[in-house]
Amino acid sequence: MTEMTHQIIIVGGGPAGLATALFLAQQAPELAGQTLILESKQHPRPKLCGGGVTFHGAAQLRRLGVEIDVPTFRVNNLLFRLGRRSFKIRHSGAMHIYERAVFDAVLAQAVIDRGIAMHTHEQLVDLRMIEGGVELTTAAGQYRARVVVGADGANSTVRRKLRMFNTPGVARLLRTMTPVSPENPTWAEQTAIFDFTCVLHGIQGYMWDFPCLIDGAPHMNRGILDSRLIPHTAAKRAHGMLKQFFTEGLQDRQVDLDAAVLEGHPVRWFNADAEFARPHILLAGDAAGVDPLFAEGISYAMEYGAVVVETIRDAFARDDFTFQGYRARLLDHHLGRLLMRRVMVARHFYRHQFPGFWSLFWQLAAVAPRSVQNKFGAALALLPP
Ligand SMILES: Cc1cc2nc3c(=O)[nH]c(=O)nc-3n(C[C@H](O)[C@H](O)[C@H](O)COP(=O)(O)OP(=O)(O)OC[C@H]3O[C@@H](n4cnc5c(N)ncnc54)[C@H](O)[C@@H]3O)c2cc1C
Repeated sequence: MTEMTHQIIIVGGGPAGLATALFLAQQAPELAGQTLILESKQHPRPKLCGGGVTFHGAAQLRRLGVEIDVPTFRVNNLLFRLGRRSFKIRHSGAMHIYERAVFDAVLAQAVIDRGIAMHTHEQLVDLRMIEGGVELTTAAGQYRARVVVGADGANSTVRRKLRMFNTPGVARLLRTMTPVSPENPTWAEQTAIFDFTCVLHGIQGYMWDFPCLIDGAPHMNRGILDSRLIPHTAAKRAHGMLKQFFTEGLQDRQVDLDAAVLEGHPVRWFNADAEFARPHILLAGDAAGVDPLFAEGISYAMEYGAVVVETIRDAFARDDFTFQGYRARLLDHHLGRLLMRRVMVARHFYRHQFPGFWSLFWQLAAVAPRSVQNKFGAALALLPP
């Protein structure tokens, strides 16, 4: 059998790849010592994101034993808007907004502190199956591994190079960061806004306003999601103009469009029919698929790490690297169940076949007692149960 340079190679040093490494260090130290992470950039590296980490993300960090001890913005109110209707859920610490580059850099440092090898500035350019494993090619050289974890994001090279089957499943997002006054009501009241008005205009997503700190200064992280979950032929509605809707929304918020930089990046959403594994290959995080409802991916990416490590430990114990059971394991796991719930809600809401129902829903949610609102937040896995 071909000699391997590593037992495990993780492609991508984002939350999915780093959490996989941290779970390995915790649960399979003998394998962690023979693991290498290949990351094309150097931490702290820019990553387009809203930076919102929910209670579910905080739970993953506790499981990993990592404390992200950096300045963060604490959100105490979640405001949901649909056209002229809105309702607010008050929950102290409902979310924390991080500077994403800093968040990932702390996770990366934890990986290095646990002695796991990471090569930064080393991009995977190709990979091919060989007897008993995978051969990976980077600009710096070649590696051979028994197991490859594709944690290389929404534009995954691993998925693309292996032509892994996928159904349409990529959401489009735009984002801009602007400084704000600390007197800005959204900032001062520690409110995160989820504005679904774009659904009424054929965009299957929402516009967010997340208050945050950049280098200690008050800022607003604003963006828009178009999940593209429902093909527009099936939705029987014209596709809304994402950029136009976003710029109009920013104008309504008095954002200086000449100064604002609009950036875009996709998110792959979880599709139970997609291909998640091949012999010797597992996908995780955005490369596999995350949440289409809010495009929440940080917490899910980290939880993928737990499922990947369970799967890898089993494979080494049984000397069986076909990974045939990975999809079933994902679907059966807390992670898969949460993602399937988000997909189901998104399919109904973003189809928006019954606008009257949703308008009534928003009206009732606004007058519902706080306990009911909190249950709603918990049902969407935005708040703890
Ligand atoms: C605009 C926007 C806003 C978002 N807001 C939120 C939010 O508020 N909260 C939330 O939870 N989620 C949010 N998300 C989703 C979240 O950012 C992703 O789901 C999350 O980053 C997925 O983590 P990951 O580790 O799978 O992938 P990534 O974080 O994308 O990490 C992949 C890593 O792989 C590296 N890489 C890529 N290709 C290669 C290669 N060929 N070789 C080596 N390395 C490679 C990249 O440099 C990167 O470091 C947002 C996404 C976008 C686009």
